[in-house]
Amino acid sequence: MILDKEQLRANLDEVIWNIEEARITVSEHHIVKLVTVTKYTELENIQTLYELGQRAFGENQVQQLKERMTELEELPLEWHMIGTLQKNKINNLIDLRPALMQSLDSIELAQELNKKLEAKEAKMNCLLQINAAKEESKSGVSAEEAIDIYQEIRENCPNINLKGVMTIGAHSEDTKLIQQSFETTHSIYEKLGKEGATVCSMGMSGDYRLAIKCGSNLVRIGSALFK
Ligand SMILES: *Cc1c(COP(=O)(O)O)cnc(C)c1O
Repeated sequence: MILDKEQLRANLDEVIWNIEEARITVSEHHIVKLVTVTKYTELENIQTLYELGQRAFGENQVQQLKERMTELEELPLEWHMIGTLQKNKINNLIDLRPALMQSLDSIELAQELNKKLEAKEAKMNCLLQINAAKEESKSGVSAEEAIDIYQEIRENCPNINLKGVMTIGAHSEDTKLIQQSFETTHSIYEKLGKEGATVCSMGMSGDYRLAIKCGSNLVRIGSALFK
């Protein structure tokens, strides 16, 4: 559905207001970045959001990311990859030079990505995805192994610049469970401060206020904007 500018402006204002309200409960110095997730929406809406001042966008498939980056290459947008990366798409993603690859979800993928980055003499900013709620349907490393894996990637994958962690909140009606998954991820993020982690990406349309209160400094929001 292509939304008119006033509708998108109202939706964006509401999201930004909610982010503001949540972040101020953490600290007035706690800054939160908004990445708008456009995987289910039309190109026109991305353009309109750009006109409204939004710059950071996320896609979960390499092919769609590529199409949109190409179609909108005139605009100074910042693109994030937020979905599972298939090994046979690694080279395509490298060529797109995303600002941040948020879904590095295993040591094997890191090794493979690093090898291909080396071959292309390229680097990539990445987040380590954590499956904090231990859900079978989700990818990501376990909370228990996250710190070791993070350190291992830092030591053995010099072409990957690890910037922090990403998680998807527990898929549950139970707010306590969702909160737990955010708290688990945030405590890992804090321990990784000495490893240089600066990004804690948590929170989507249904749970971003809670995620921010648990310390998220990057939210990924789609459906709340395109209604
Ligand atoms: C789709 C998606 C989002 C945005 O989800 P909404 O609920 O539409 O806000 C955020 N993060 C990831 C990894 C996604 O795949």
